[in-house]
Formats: sequence, structure tokens, C-alpha cells
Amino acid sequence: MHGRLGPTEHARAWTRLGEERLDVLVVGGGVTGAGAALDAATRGLSVALVEARDLASGTSSRSSKLFHGGLRYLEQLDFSLVREALRERELMLTRLAPHLVKPVPFLYPLQRLGWERLYVGAGLTLYDNLGGANVLPRTRHFSRRGARAICPALRPDALVGALQYWDAQADDARHTLSVARTAARYGAVVRTSTEVVGLVRDAGRVVGAEVRDVETGDRQVVRASAVVSCTGVWTDDVEALSGSRGRFNVRASKGVHLVVPRDRIASETGMILRTPTSVLFVIPWGQHWLVGSTDTDWNLNLAHPAASRADIDYLLGQVNQVLVRPLTYDDIVGVFAGLRPLLAGESDETSQLSREHAVARPMPGLVTIAGGKYTTYRVMAADAIEATAPDLPRPLTESVTAEVPLVGAEGYAALVNQADHLADEYGLPVWRVHHLLDRYGSLLEEVLAPAEEDPALLQPVPAADGYLAAEVRYGVTHEAALHLDDLLARRTRISIETEHRGVASAEAVGALAADVLGWEPDRVAAEVEVYQARVAAERASQEEATDQAADAARMLAPDTRRCGVGRALDD
Ligand SMILES: Cc1cc2nc3c(=O)[nH]c(=O)nc-3n(C[C@H](O)[C@H](O)[C@H](O)COP(=O)(O)OP(=O)(O)OC[C@H]3O[C@@H](n4cnc5c(N)ncnc54)[C@H](O)[C@@H]3O)c2cc1C
Repeated sequence: MHGRLGPTEHARAWTRLGEERLDVLVVGGGVTGAGAALDAATRGLSVALVEARDLASGTSSRSSKLFHGGLRYLEQLDFSLVREALRERELMLTRLAPHLVKPVPFLYPLQRLGWERLYVGAGLTLYDNLGGANVLPRTRHFSRRGARAICPALRPDALVGALQYWDAQADDARHTLSVARTAARYGAVVRTSTEVVGLVRDAGRVVGAEVRDVETGDRQVVRASAVVSCTGVWTDDVEALSGSRGRFNVRASKGVHLVVPRDRIASETGMILRTPTSVLFVIPWGQHWLVGSTDTDWNLNLAHPAASRADIDYLLGQVNQVLVRPLTYDDIVGVFAGLRPLLAGESDETSQLSREHAVARPMPGLVTIAGGKYTTYRVMAADAIEATAPDLPRPLTESVTAEVPLVGAEGYAALVNQADHLADEYGLPVWRVHHLLDRYGSLLEEVLAPAEEDPALLQPVPAADGYLAAEVRYGVTHEAALHLDDLLARRTRISIETEHRGVASAEAVGALAADVLGWEPDRVAAEVEVYQARVAAERASQEEATDQAADAARMLAPDTRRCGVGRALDD
């Protein structure tokens, strides 16, 4: 039903991985891997997706969360990349995930009179037209006064006028989870806490992988006609397991975002600001703004990239150039850092490296895909599965994912129209029903069903009013959450949306998980302790001036899951 990923499915998936001979084994549960599993399953292939940590725990929960064509690529005259991305944006907004992907406006302040309006205006008109059907409002021109009417936060001397254009946004972690659940709905085995630690070779080809359950340490071999690595910044590590020479290298570029409360920036619209090397977004995010991002080389820990004081200072410095009321450290509620998996190119400037993706088949039975961006995950996924064709026992059918709505999409529009009625039925405020519909779509009834027996589930999570206890429970029963960290950082975004960064909710959320997972009190205490240590280490890292010192401070916290791709495991 609906691709449920609960504890029973988790246990069963381990057995299935050992018993079934698969067509395709996908490694990596970010958006690319989840997309590849969905693409394969809906082409009629038998497929499994294994993720070492949690779904979207890598880059796919730490992005700017935009489905966009990328104005920078437009400026670089990369029209095909922009057109492709805008086509995906439209598909998400209309057919595949209208419950998760929403329109978002951006104001582009103009600095100079004359040519700049013509130049930017022409670019944005092209952006509107490349975007195809009129799903989103078209670009509008504003005088300085008009722009400040919708964005009073802007200093009068920061602009001479402005344009406003539209893109789309989604909660990336929730979207990736929904793609993975949709894959499961069509038969894919989906298992988290399952790390590929070796590739099995026979007569010069890859015929499967050795996997390790990072919770128990158990290992087994999974047989598959093709192994597809969708491991983002870990791509080189997984290729190294094959013993073959990689066809491309992936570089990591760190991007940091700040989260600040909505009332700190008086504006009805998001903003895009030019920086010396790139752009800075101020993005509406529920009751908050996301301000980001940075773009710097990163060669330290890949699982837990750390934001430094320098990153935070840079972002404050950039955004404060245009704000009437400058932001201070005290305004910052959350900070998150992610790593862009960039294909290594000739230029040393990471912001110049290509966002396009590449697929390689370094040896028979092994396909690697890397690069790209979140927006084009569906295209990347189809390309990766296409590349397995020579390794499969039968001809590959066409990709159909453009026709396959994600779980929760079907019936969403009808439920939106019935929001008042649903609010009455569950005794919830209407805003809460809309919030739930935008997170779960038509799965809302499944999320709230246990509250019939246990009305306390309709109460908000302590110290995190935006979420209901029922959502936490659902994270464990249906959404593959295995740890407190999964619930606070990705099933909900309490870790970046509250000043306590989830610590004040940890015990209550742990108790809700314990009910389903059968945790004893000492296990709850251990989960809370690990989570508190993570938050403390992140806070400490954000005080450090350099990447090296920030990384060292962050790594003092124990890992929720002990993984070791590319490094010797010491157990
Ligand atoms: C700051 C920032 C902002 C961005 N903003 C945007 C944006 O607004 N719009 C956009 O389109 N794109 C954006 N991007 C890019 C986008 O987020 C990434 O391209 C995308 O999320 C990459 O997804 P992925 O699945 O390839 O990698 P990941 O999400 O990193 O997934 C790889 C997964 O592989 C797993 N893994 C690794 N090794 C193993 C193993 N041995 N066994 C099992 N699992 C393994 C990891 O745990 C990880 O979960 C942004 C990126 C950053 C960093």
C-alpha cells in the first residue's frame, strides 16, 4: 500500500536482498538513486535501492530546495540545460508532485539605470518562454518604489528598480523520500542503513555487491545484472571498489544556508542577489527564510560538512548589503551545509564547473552517474538506467516516469478543495490541514488514521509547533525513519527550524519512535544523547574560523550510523 517503508518492510528487505536475483541494484538513496530505482521499477525491472545512512541524508536534504532552470546557466547561454530543467519544473508542479512542489517568486533588484533592466528583462522573458506552458506567473517589472512596496526590507539605495520572476520549491528531503516510496510502490526493494562495501566481480564484470547492515554489522551478497552507483560526492569511493579506473572525478563544493525567522526580513517575495562570484538567494521557507549559499571547495568529511564562522560571516555580509535592518548572529535559527557533486573540470573555480551530469560504464555491470542538479534528477535517473541496457537479460522499455505521479499526488487537488471539511473531521485548524496536504498530499488520511485510537497524536510536537505527533509516528511506520536524527532532520525539519535545533523536542520525538520501534528507555536516552552531541558539535563548528577547525569540531560528535565507504572498516 502506497510504498510503505516501515520496520516490517525494513526487515523483509534484508531477506529479499539476499534471495532475489535483481536486474538492477541502485546504490545511494539521494534523489538520483531514488529516481533511478523508480525509473527501473516502472520499466518493469526488478530493482533494489540501498542507502548507507538515511534517504536524502547526503546532498539531497541540504540544497536550496529549488526546482529551477538556473539564471546563471542562462547567462552562460546554456539554453538546453535551462530548457530541460524548466520542463522538469513544470512536470513537478503539474503532474508528478503538485502536493510537494510550489511556486515561489524572486525579486531581482537592479543596481544601474538603463541597460541592466533591458539585459535582465530580456533574460527573464526568455526564461519565461523556455519554461513552456503558462504554469507560473510571468516576469513583472517594478520601479524602486513598487519593489520596496512588496519588499520593504530593501534599502532604498540598494536598487534603482527591480524585476520579479517565478520558480518552484520543495522540501528536498521529503521529495526524495516520496520518490523512493513511489519506487517501493512499484515493487522496488528500498533499504536504508545498508552500505555497499564491495562489488562482486566475475569474469571481468560486476555481478553484484556486498552490503553491510550498518546497524547490526551483518553482511551479505546481493546479485544483480547491473549495479548503478548514484552516490554523489562519494562516487569516486564507490568506483574505487570496482578496482577499475574511474571515467570521471567528482569534486565537492560546499554550500551553506542560514535559516532566519520570517519576521526578520520584511518581504512578500524571495530575492536573488548578485555576489562577486555567483548569486545569493533569500528564499521563503514556511515561517522562515533560507539565505544561501556559499560555494567553496571542500576536501574534508563528506557525510557531515561543517559550516564555519567564515561561511556565516560571508552570507551575513552579502545579504546585509541590501537590507534596511541588517541580520545579526542572533537572528540565525538554523544553519545547514551541503556538498555539490561537481564533475571535475578544467577550471579551479567551483562556481564555474559544470552542473551537467555524466554517465559512465567503467566496466560491464557497473554504471556510474554523477553531477547534475536536483531539478533534473528524473532525466539523470532515466539516463543511468538506459546505460544498464547492455547488461540486462532482456530489452529495456522506454522510461515512463514522466507519467508516474509520486505517492500522495493523486487526489491532492480534491482534498485541497475539501480542506475545511477535513479540518472539521479531525478537529484541526484549516492552516494545519493545508500544511499537512502540502507535505503528504492524499496520504494525509493515512498519516492521521492512528489518531482515531490515540487522539494525543493530533497534538503538536513539544517545542516544535509546526508538526503533529502523528507525523513523527508516520515517519517511523511508513517513511523508513530508524533514528531520532532521521525524524528531526529530514522527516520533519525541526533541526533547522527551531532555535533549540531539535534538542528540546528530542525526548518527546524519541518516545514516539520508541512506541513503534520497541525502544527501551536506555535506547531512547542513547538516541537523545547522540542527537544532542550532533547539535553541540555543529554549534561549535560554526564558531570556528576555518574549514579545518570547523570539520574537527564537527567530527567530535559520534555518528548516528557508522559507515566507511572507501575507508577500512575497523569492526
Ligand atoms: C548548497 C546546495 C544547494 C543546491 N541547490 C540546488 C537547487 O536549488 N536546485 C537544484 O536543482 N539543485 C541544487 N543543488 C544540487 C542538488 O542538491 C544535488 O545535485 C543533488 O541533491 C544530488 O543528489 P544525489 O542523489 O546525486 O546525491 P546525494 O543526495 O548526496 O546522495 C548520494 C547518497 O549515496 C549514499 N552513499 C554513498 N556511498 C554509499 C554506499 N557505499 N552504499 C550505500 N549508499 C551510499 C550517501 O549516503 C547519499 O545519501 C544544490 C546543492 C547544494 C550543495
